[in-house]
Amino acid sequence: MTFFNTVKSSTNQSLDILEGHRITVKREDLIHSVVSGNKFRKLKYNFEEYLLNDNPTVLSFGGAFSNHLAATAYAGKIGNVPTLGIVRGEEWENKVEQSSTLNFCQNQGMELRFVSRAVYREKEKGNLVKELRSKTRNLFILPEGGTNELAVKGCEEILTEADQEFDTICSCVGTGGTIAGLINSASSQQFVLGFNALNNPEVSNTILNFTQKENWRLESNYTFGGYAKVSAELIVFMNNFYQQYQIPLDPIYTGKMLFGIFDLIKRKKWSWGKNILVIHSGGLQGIRPMNLQLKKKRLPLLNYG
Ligand SMILES: *Cc1c(COP(=O)(O)O)cnc(C)c1O
Repeated sequence: MTFFNTVKSSTNQSLDILEGHRITVKREDLIHSVVSGNKFRKLKYNFEEYLLNDNPTVLSFGGAFSNHLAATAYAGKIGNVPTLGIVRGEEWENKVEQSSTLNFCQNQGMELRFVSRAVYREKEKGNLVKELRSKTRNLFILPEGGTNELAVKGCEEILTEADQEFDTICSCVGTGGTIAGLINSASSQQFVLGFNALNNPEVSNTILNFTQKENWRLESNYTFGGYAKVSAELIVFMNNFYQQYQIPLDPIYTGKMLFGIFDLIKRKKWSWGKNILVIHSGGLQGIRPMNLQLKKKRLPLLNYG
């Protein structure tokens, strides 16, 4: 599929040496002009599989800022695959225009269904999917966040031969698919440190499902209270980071991870290697809808993106 051939390989960008630690950012956010970062990697083999089947419809799930829904909608449009998105929160039905993510999904031709949080929680097990299955021929269900075996396979392509020089690899963790791919492709001398972006007690099990190795750990002290929660301190850090390095970070994942890395090193709590590769997994489409939320809460805004 041509869409997935348009991926550029990502470049590594060095930051300053921070207290003896060499930090390099892998700019996965730049691999595609519309769908940046890991969601692209996660869809690649999934969409290749779909296209082997006849006329599938792709169903997936996400919140009003979901990078995964946006990526799926776009891939569907380019690949001529109908897409259906189940959105968490009925209230969004009447305010789609307040989420540039949902707007984008609709503009790509994705059909959106809005459901309550209770229905969403039961999404795969409940009646919703059963009903859709009975109405739609050849329905392919991509899990929330896109994490499955083929997604992990796609994420195994993030690290290259040249990246063997790094001793520590840092990744954001949501559903765990991305870090599982990194763990699988890292060498046995490399250590993979994941930064949880939300409180998800199940995530270690997901990672263990997709990888056999043990050279990894999760850091859970930088979730900022949960998924898509932010503080003024985090926003100020991200704005300063952009000013210093011209690297835009997203507020849900990569901003929290870099805050954590800098904080641990500065407080001399970093117990990992000193030659660090940080995976910038993208997610930049989430900046605009987040700024709307920040404005409502009278918090500082992200001044880039
Ligand atoms: C979804 C996402 C992640 C988390 O990936 P998982 O595979 O769900 O752990 C990290 N960074 C960004 C920018 C994302 O959009």
